[in-house]
Amino acid sequence: MEKKITEVILCKYGELILKGTNRSTFEAQLLREVRRRAAFFGRFDVHANQSTVYVEPENEESADRIDELYAQLKKVFGFVALCKAAVSEKTLEAILETAKAYLPAKLAGVKTFKCEAKRSDKRFPLSSPELAGEAGGAILEAMPHLTVNLTEPDVVVKIEVREQYAYIHAGQDKGAGGMPIGSAGKGMLLLSGGIDSPVAGWRMMRRGMTVECVHFESFPYTSEAAREKVFELAAELAEFCGKIKVHVISLTHIQESLRDRCEEDYFTLLLRRFMMKLASRSAEENGCPALITGESLGQVASQTLKAMVVTEDAADRPVFRPLIGMDKEEIVVNAREIGTFDTSILPYDDCCTVFTPRHPRTQPELEKVLREEGRVDVDALLEEAWGTRHCVVIEQQI
Ligand code: ATP
Ligand code: MG
Repeated sequence: MEKKITEVILCKYGELILKGTNRSTFEAQLLREVRRRAAFFGRFDVHANQSTVYVEPENEESADRIDELYAQLKKVFGFVALCKAAVSEKTLEAILETAKAYLPAKLAGVKTFKCEAKRSDKRFPLSSPELAGEAGGAILEAMPHLTVNLTEPDVVVKIEVREQYAYIHAGQDKGAGGMPIGSAGKGMLLLSGGIDSPVAGWRMMRRGMTVECVHFESFPYTSEAAREKVFELAAELAEFCGKIKVHVISLTHIQESLRDRCEEDYFTLLLRRFMMKLASRSAEENGCPALITGESLGQVASQTLKAMVVTEDAADRPVFRPLIGMDKEEIVVNAREIGTFDTSILPYDDCCTVFTPRHPRTQPELEKVLREEGRVDVDALLEEAWGTRHCVVIEQQI
């Protein structure tokens, strides 16, 4: 009878290994995130050992869904690499037999390979090079069309002899990297419908931040469709963190007042200062010690150094700008990788494009901006806008 092969997922830590005494907290956060995702696909045993999270199906139905779970685990921050692997007893005979049974399907279409072995259990009688040699020989025997290429193989087959079992896999995938979600506090992301801000949020999530969003709209100058687009972007970000809150605030009266009373060249800067004030208040209310924006130095008039100094003056806490040194092209590549690009380019107006000045100031002086701001009743406008806020919680759909 053909031997039944048990396939599991191994997820390997990245930077986390370095984090000393915090490591167990990080590990717990990582396990929680893996278990949350695994629960969608059936019953899996999830445990950590030797800088690896093991995910093992507990019944046939779960085993059938391992590929779907694997795709999900590629989005978990904190892992540098992951692979699916066959489990074997820790004898040479069992390892070779498992390799011969498991690998042909995995190496279909592959021409060259290299075999590596790693023995973390030093009681195993063969050294790593000896085991690699034996396994390589067995693979060639089972799949004679393959050739060995030590420098540039199509696939690296790896045999890992670990504490309880040996694991055999045919190449690993890159993990999402970064630090586990929830390990670095909370940040309030100013989420527009553009390309940049979702990427900015994703980059902070990847450093372990829990991200909440504030979105500013301006009915009737912005549309229902524009708001839906932002919720869609938030849903795409929720793929990486499970769920995300979006606080929506209306700027309609603020924008109308600025248009009616202030010098046109300053509209955008003044609006951005209002955004910072409202975002700070929202951050305070929701326990976020930092704000996050998608600004990138020099990208538009309101993102020159001087403009950002004027804008930041209105914030009451640190403003993180993870894209500050990135070119638009790099941001676009990142947006495509995380799956937000196609939504971002849907053509709906953002409140930033309502009443845009023809000649926006690129080298504003704070004093002059404050003078312009003095022409409107800042406190009353803030209070009124604050009263329009409402919150939508967006959950990951699996
Ligand atoms: P994006 O692609 O993120 O919209 P952008 O290049 O269009 O960026 P701006 O419109 O100047 O730049 O906005 C700069 C940043 O201000 C955005 O990245 C975002 O963080 C924030 N922002 C802009 N508009 C809004 C909005 N309507 N609601 C919330 N935040 C916004
Ligand atoms: Mg924008």
